[in-house]
Amino acid sequence: MANIIEIFSSIQGEGLYVGTRQIFVRFAGCNLACDYCDTPDSRKLCDHALVECAPGKRIFDKIANPLSIDYLAQRINSLLTIRHHSISLTGGEPLGQTESIIKLAPKLKGLIYLETNGTMVEKLAQALPYIHIISMDLKLPSIAGKAYWQEHYEFLRLAAGKEVFIKLVITGQTGSDEFKQAVDLVASVNNRIPLILQPVTPCNASTAVQPDAMLTYQAEALKLLENVRVIPQTHKFMGQL
Ligand code: SF4
Repeated sequence: MANIIEIFSSIQGEGLYVGTRQIFVRFAGCNLACDYCDTPDSRKLCDHALVECAPGKRIFDKIANPLSIDYLAQRINSLLTIRHHSISLTGGEPLGQTESIIKLAPKLKGLIYLETNGTMVEKLAQALPYIHIISMDLKLPSIAGKAYWQEHYEFLRLAAGKEVFIKLVITGQTGSDEFKQAVDLVASVNNRIPLILQPVTPCNASTAVQPDAMLTYQAEALKLLENVRVIPQTHKFMGQL
């Protein structure tokens, strides 16, 4: 059984695969509490899941949680009537429901793309055989409230066995020391892992970063890493889910 917030077809708005069509499966619950979290409701379990009836039509069935794995697979696969790049397991933090992912993934008819906060190392080890692409957040202490350097390092070493890229949200509160430590961490695993710098969409306590500061951050990261891109949350200004 799985506790799901919603399932729908849309455009990936962040990261290396921005613009691709994906099915989004949002798992409920998260182990963190980031300052800029734009989905605070996703941090707790939900009574009901919203499940889109046809891809992109925005007509939803309201189904009581938890959902059986067979039912979940059937509803996800039913949205694949148009071509999608992949099925994004997102949240909340999807690895909080790793047992469900392990049972679900083999039943899905598409590439599995994992969007994760990059802290649940043991859970990633269990789910890894079923995942094709990993979008890993690297949470800086200024937004996560504490440091996750060791967890992130171990997580990235494991994830590097698959296709992986890093998303690093930059806010007005980002410190140059923590930024440098993040870049060093990625470079210590593999300097060819793509790093996406995502200027924050201001939310809650987080404030915007200045445009010239983004140029400085990118130049700094490019001293150690081969592929550093600046990409904001594009789904917000497209008005997509
Ligand atoms: S990891 Fe994601 S879902 Fe969890 S608190 Fe942070 S932004 Fe929100």
